[in-house]
Amino acid sequence: MRIAGIDITVDWSLLIIFALIATSLALGQFPQWHPAWGPLTCWLTALAAALLFFASVLAHELSHSLVGRANGIQVKRITLFVFGGMAQMEHEPDRWPAELWMAIVGPITSLIIGLLCILAAGIGAPGAAAAQAGNVPALERLLAGLDPGRTLLLWLGQINIVLAIFNLVPAFPLDGGRVLRAILWGTTHDLRRATRLASALGQAFAWMLIAAGIAMMLGASLPYFGSGAANGIWLAFIGWFLNNAALMSYRQLLTREHLQDVPVGRLMLRQLETVWPDMPVDMLVSNFLLRTDQRAFPVVEGDRLAGLVCQRDVERLPQAQRHSTSVRDIMKPMSQVVVAHPNDDALDVLNLLAQRDINQVLVMEDGRVAGLARRADILRWLALHGPAKVPPGP
Ligand SMILES: [Zn+2]
Repeated sequence: MRIAGIDITVDWSLLIIFALIATSLALGQFPQWHPAWGPLTCWLTALAAALLFFASVLAHELSHSLVGRANGIQVKRITLFVFGGMAQMEHEPDRWPAELWMAIVGPITSLIIGLLCILAAGIGAPGAAAAQAGNVPALERLLAGLDPGRTLLLWLGQINIVLAIFNLVPAFPLDGGRVLRAILWGTTHDLRRATRLASALGQAFAWMLIAAGIAMMLGASLPYFGSGAANGIWLAFIGWFLNNAALMSYRQLLTREHLQDVPVGRLMLRQLETVWPDMPVDMLVSNFLLRTDQRAFPVVEGDRLAGLVCQRDVERLPQAQRHSTSVRDIMKPMSQVVVAHPNDDALDVLNLLAQRDINQVLVMEDGRVAGLARRADILRWLALHGPAKVPPGP
């Protein structure tokens, strides 16, 4: 699905949360609010509510993406998954005001959706006067008197407001943490210090959630979070996820800082073995793949570069056919080969490798092969020059 030129991907884990929301509404919340409703009404309203919930999560993510685009950051894909949504940006903002607006627009969108839903649920609702008596039985009567449409809007309204508040917690990489980082970045003019602080707060918050979750699993009842082992597991899980995300974001920044402005020509493999198109594949295996640590070979015909052949191309061919097949038949022609330039940023090349799910890219200069930029070389360079601990991949 595409909206405004952005790919919308749905992760399989979303099905789990969809089923969880629909089930807990259909079997828990709605029968409690509306003892008179039959199971069919409960389930239909619950399914519609779960669908609209994801539509509002998508609206939240789209708002980030559109503000990002207005600031020159392309968002290629939004993935909806178990914790809501995630927008994949090509790169992070390079000025703090862009980061600030991009981060804060999401919670604002959720808040507006939430308030509009609650307002719509309330317009002309029967028994609104009864609720003004202010006592609890009146509130229950009011809830029971709401039709399925208004009930759905009321639930959607409050869940969007919860979503806005949760995202505003100043724990990086939540939206609130990004807002905090942007402000720290603006005051200290030091992105790294700002990220370190915001990410430390994010981790502290994550550990708090994990501790609260464990306490609830052991039977404690906490204010606001409630009690129960199931809620506790859920809370601890969110905490664990946030802690990982906070750590990853900080390491990503370190990786980015260490690789930025390093031309890939400085860390690529220069001395390349080349092969020729008529070479049988079994010779490629025995004389090249097994004898060198090179995993991709430029295929040269005369003085013309015809393509690139990789270990993966060989693996796809049944072993019995290696003798009768030539390199020409399994190589990628130049029109399909991803190439880089020696002056390209090593960081951009690492991102390119991750995006295409490949391990190396051919480096060309003035129509000639200059070398091979491999993921392993970039990671080795990072291990020797970069931060103490580097995550695998960008
Ligand atoms: Zn957000």
